[in-house]
Parts: sequence; structure tokens; C-alpha cells
Amino acid sequence: MLAIRGLSVVFDGFRAIDGIDLTVREGELRFLIGPNGAGKTTLVDVVTGLTRPTGGSVVFAGREIVGRREHQIVRLGIGRTFQTAVVFEELTVEENVDLAASFRMRLPALLRRRKGRSDKVASVLDRAGLLDLAGQRAGVLSHGQRQWLEIAMLLAQEPRLLLLDEPVAGMSRAERERTGELLADVARDRTVLVIEHDMEFVRTYASTVTVLHEGRVLTEGDMAHVQADPQVREVYLGRSRDTRAAEPAAVGAGPNPEGAA
Ligand code: ADP
Ligand code: MG
Repeated sequence: MLAIRGLSVVFDGFRAIDGIDLTVREGELRFLIGPNGAGKTTLVDVVTGLTRPTGGSVVFAGREIVGRREHQIVRLGIGRTFQTAVVFEELTVEENVDLAASFRMRLPALLRRRKGRSDKVASVLDRAGLLDLAGQRAGVLSHGQRQWLEIAMLLAQEPRLLLLDEPVAGMSRAERERTGELLADVARDRTVLVIEHDMEFVRTYASTVTVLHEGRVLTEGDMAHVQADPQVREVYLGRSRDTRAAEPAAVGAGPNPEGAA
């Protein structure tokens, strides 16, 4: 589904991404972890056309992405969320999802649309657990609900590959659990790449984890493999010692989500 090869991104001489190879298969729920500044968001920015790489290639479903514009990449079937949810606060939850659903429609389909809730919007709201909130203004949603709305808006665009940048940052434990279940559910018929800091969350839901550090892939594998890796322990524990309010020992304690730092 996604084949990243020899990717590099240089900002003013600084190598944010330094030769990354990464393969994600169709139907995977893949987690991408690593300390602040590792290059996780930059990687997603490249895959979605927001940032142009200095070198390398990104092939999505057999097509080269590098050089295409953002909207072209959306049309190919790649969708993303940002670290801070972007929703229209004055519109209702349902209107937000409806609007997102129309982004990929061509004009004739848009003109044919009837009033009322479409099946697609209803099913997306249901899937994201937002049916009860359909008529609420997005501006009054809690932090967790906003994140779910953003995921719902993404689902309404029917991407084949979803890239989620720290969807559970700042969420309560209960909200994290719900989000994990939602992502696992979404991965049943789509491919999902999730950037995450919270190791506990990753442990529960990840099948394969890729660890980035200083723009490179440090290691990749299942959670047991990653946690046993001495380099991963060093990166996480080292940073939590010198720059973070460290959670107690164990690799389970990663750096804080940057949004909450
Ligand atoms: P992560 O998401 O893993 O925390 P980022 O991908 O946001 O890391 O950033 C990787 C590195 O690249 C950081 O050192 C960051 O400061 C730098 N960086 C990101 N975007 C830019 C930019 N537009 N210009 C210059 N430096 C950037
Ligand atoms: Mg980031």
C-alpha cells in the first residue's frame, strides 16, 4: 500500500528525515513512534504532499506521490489528521461530516444530493460513536469528541490510507480505549498509520511498530521486539531523564505527548 524508499528531508541544512525506508501493507494498523523531533510529522507531511522531500520516493498503491499536489494525493485515497483537530466550530457535527463527504464528490454528484442525512454520513457518525452528538455544534465538543469528529470527517472521504498524527494526545484513558477500538475497527477495511507517543496505547493496539529517531528508522517489529531493543530503551529513557518529567523507569514510559508538554 505504501512504500517509502530512501526518503530524506532537509530544512535549511538540518536533516529532519535522513534516509527512511518504510513499507506498510494493505489492512495494517501500523504505529510510528519516537521522541519529539524524530521526524514523524514530517514523514506524514511528505506522504500527504505538504512537504517536498529532498530525495527518495513514496509509492502509494503503485503510484509515485512525490511531486503531486495535496489535493491530488487526497484524490488518490490518502487522508490525514493533524496534531490539533481542524473542524468547523460553527457547524454541527453532522454538517462537518457531510461537508467532508462532499470534498471528493464531483459536481454532478454534489448537485444530485438531497436534503437530509445520507447513508454514508449516518454510518460514519455511527462508526465514530457520534450519532448522539450529530446536532451539536462542533465548537462545544470535548477534546476527545473533536478528535473523533476529525476521524469521522476523514472516514467520510473514504481514504484507503489514513495517517493520524497523535490522535489520543490529551485524551482520558477511557477516550483512548474508545479511540483504539475505533482505529482497530477502521483497519478492518482500510490501512492506518498512527503516530503515537503513549507506549501503553501502542502496546495494546499495535501489531507492528516502527521507531523513528533523528530522522531514521531505529527499529521495527512487534511491541516485544521494540521494547527489548537497547537502542529504544536508550532513546526513550535517556530523553525522559534529561528533558522530561519522567514517568517511572521501564520502556513503557515514553516522552510526554508534545501537545501536552
Ligand atoms: P516529530 O513529529 O517526530 O516530533 P517533526 O517531524 O515535527 O518531529 O520534526 C522533525 C524535525 O524537523 C524537528 O527538529 C523540527 O524542528 C524540524 N522541522 C519540522 N518542520 C520544519 C520546518 N518546516 N522547517 C524547519 N524545521 C522543521
Ligand atoms: Mg509531530
